[in-house]
Amino acid sequence: MTVTLPVVPPPVEEEHLSKSQRAEILAEIDALRTKHNAVVLAHSYQVPDLQDIADFVGDSLGLSRQAAETDADVIVFCGVHFMAETAAILSPEKTVLLPDLRAGCSLASSITADELRDWKAQHPGAVVVSYVNTTAEVKAESDYCCTSANAVQIIQSIPEDQKILFLPDLFLGEWVKRETGRENIELWLGECHVHAGIVSEDVERARHDWPDAELLIHPECACGSKCMLDLQSGKLDSARTKVLSTEGMVRHAMQSESDQFVVATETGVLHRLNKLAPGKEFRAVRESAVCGFMKVNNLTNVRDSLRHMRHHVTVPQEIADRARVAIDRMVSIG
Ligand code: SF4
Repeated sequence: MTVTLPVVPPPVEEEHLSKSQRAEILAEIDALRTKHNAVVLAHSYQVPDLQDIADFVGDSLGLSRQAAETDADVIVFCGVHFMAETAAILSPEKTVLLPDLRAGCSLASSITADELRDWKAQHPGAVVVSYVNTTAEVKAESDYCCTSANAVQIIQSIPEDQKILFLPDLFLGEWVKRETGRENIELWLGECHVHAGIVSEDVERARHDWPDAELLIHPECACGSKCMLDLQSGKLDSARTKVLSTEGMVRHAMQSESDQFVVATETGVLHRLNKLAPGKEFRAVRESAVCGFMKVNNLTNVRDSLRHMRHHVTVPQEIADRARVAIDRMVSIG
């Protein structure tokens, strides 16, 4: 397998902005949003500033749904490139803007459409389930898309005797195999550099430092397999350990009676958790679990994006039409 990882850009800091400069930028974003009938969609891993100005904050699935349902003419997508592509596929009549074209994704880059075609040729008749963190071209070669929130549901909707190719995230794939009890799933060996960096030693340290906290783990994390084994052996308390998507973490934290949580995913979600579950304490299992691709978006380039209608993300119609089939199947199931 040949994997060419994109270079992770350095974060674009905005601490240099004075209070009045920030206020000016915010006012201009609001004026431009109205002028262009635009909405700002922000992923939960975005910097707090962008989560705070967004019309909607969520995970990949939630943002896909918002992109499909909004009446806006313009979508400013504060996320990464494959997410903007998905919005463009679902809403071809809308203008989808990505504030910074460096917003790539190491996981989406771990498989190309050519590699997927080769893999399919090695497994004729297999059904292809692609995590939504893939390029439009890879989605176009897939039968179903899924997110971490609905991956188990999607797999369970496929007849049990049907062989499945699951891509590109190895750790999510291993979790899905365990959850569904299916052996006839082949896994692509891709990973997200952020979640793959969250290892079981991080979890052990966090649990030692914060023994009463609930542990919330994203299934893309490298620590997932060890945690699942520890759950089976009783080393981890199943009542206090949950494997959840980012939106699942938010919902769970809001409803749970616990008031302390250690969170194993990209640290941007802590802002959302703190906002939606005030009074509770959240701590990252790994403070350095920061996605540089997500962090290239900021107030200045969102403002510039609306000012200059850039960077317009489009998907060729022939690819979009095939990719939409896989995405629509996902949205209709879960
Ligand atoms: S956190 Fe990982 S999967 Fe998400 S955008 Fe960044 S590199 Fe991609």
